[in-house]
Amino acid sequence: MPPALRGKSSIYKAMSQLASAHGAVDLAQGFSLLSVPGTSAILDHAALALREGSQNYTNPNGTASLRQALVDNSKRRFGVDLDPEEQVTVCAGAQDALGAAMLGLLEAGDEVVFIEPFYNPVIPMAKLTGATLRFVSLLQDDGSYRLDEESLLAEMSEKTKLIVYNSPNSPSGHVFTRTELESIARACKQYDAYLIADEVYEHLVYDDNKHVSALEIPELSERAVVISSISKSYLLTGWRVGWAQGARPLIAGIAKVHSLMSFCLPAFVSEGARFALEETPDSFLGDLRTIHQGKRDRICDGLSDIGIQVIRPRGTFFASIDIGDLGQGDDLAFCLSMPEKIGVAGVPMSLSWNQRRAGRNLVRLCFSRSDEDLDRAVSAFATWKRS
Ligand code: GLN
Repeated sequence: MPPALRGKSSIYKAMSQLASAHGAVDLAQGFSLLSVPGTSAILDHAALALREGSQNYTNPNGTASLRQALVDNSKRRFGVDLDPEEQVTVCAGAQDALGAAMLGLLEAGDEVVFIEPFYNPVIPMAKLTGATLRFVSLLQDDGSYRLDEESLLAEMSEKTKLIVYNSPNSPSGHVFTRTELESIARACKQYDAYLIADEVYEHLVYDDNKHVSALEIPELSERAVVISSISKSYLLTGWRVGWAQGARPLIAGIAKVHSLMSFCLPAFVSEGARFALEETPDSFLGDLRTIHQGKRDRICDGLSDIGIQVIRPRGTFFASIDIGDLGQGDDLAFCLSMPEKIGVAGVPMSLSWNQRRAGRNLVRLCFSRSDEDLDRAVSAFATWKRS
């Protein structure tokens, strides 16, 4: 196995497995145990499509109706006109699209700049290509994060092929502002680089924060690809429907790798996703946001009431706690012992910075869970703190 692939499997899955081994409250992997009014109509429609639709291969780039739904959606939300033939491709979840982007766009001699904290699985995929990886960290100040343009430019050169970031950001909860996207656009222009924006948490944004898509920045129209999925927006993580939309040459590379690896999506799943995008009432995404904002406040208030320092995220369905304050020095060691010691599982955040150079005091907790689970987790922390 190439060195880039050696080591443990997904930290998200591993931590959730540890939760079930110890009967702990599982706040680790980013899946949801909730449902939003309207979900059952999506499931019914997909079931009907399974019975009545095609059982054969579909177009590797996505069924025509799903691609049309995606471009219509981008037109409605961001005012951009994308060509459904050459500027969109579906993938087996956003993770497939991210991996395909690395393999389809990078080669030895290229450089790629990741904005940290990053979404871990993309790193080994980039390493496989032989490209050189560079990293720029969001600056952290009292629970809020920001991108510094000078630090980004310092990592770039004529060799930079790609910048990669995810916003709303897992694991930090930061929502990149328009100003930050404009800095990224200037950096791309200066060094003639492309951009991969992972926006899977695009509908999970709270308070007066607003998701800004890279598709909305005119200067990026020839340079950016946005990756997203139905996993977090419709709480259908197991369906594996993701997509990439944007600049033609990048879409071509992504579609090529996707077609070589997973080839195509099932017809009924594609039709279910089209229905979700086109036919759920407008209230669906509003309810999704309201429910999660309530969950966020429930767990954050609960934890801070018992004296745990918690970062209330602007977006995503993850909060983070500061374990430095609790006398715990290393997030990985702490997360490995948490399910047994406390009865709650979370994800160590330092793995989202290169060489774990930051985040060792931070643990990510997923709050897309029942109120009972969130309350049980808070009480478990309280009991542990008292002991
Ligand atoms: N996106 C999920 C998370 O952040 C993990 C998905 C996976 O395990 N591959 O937890």
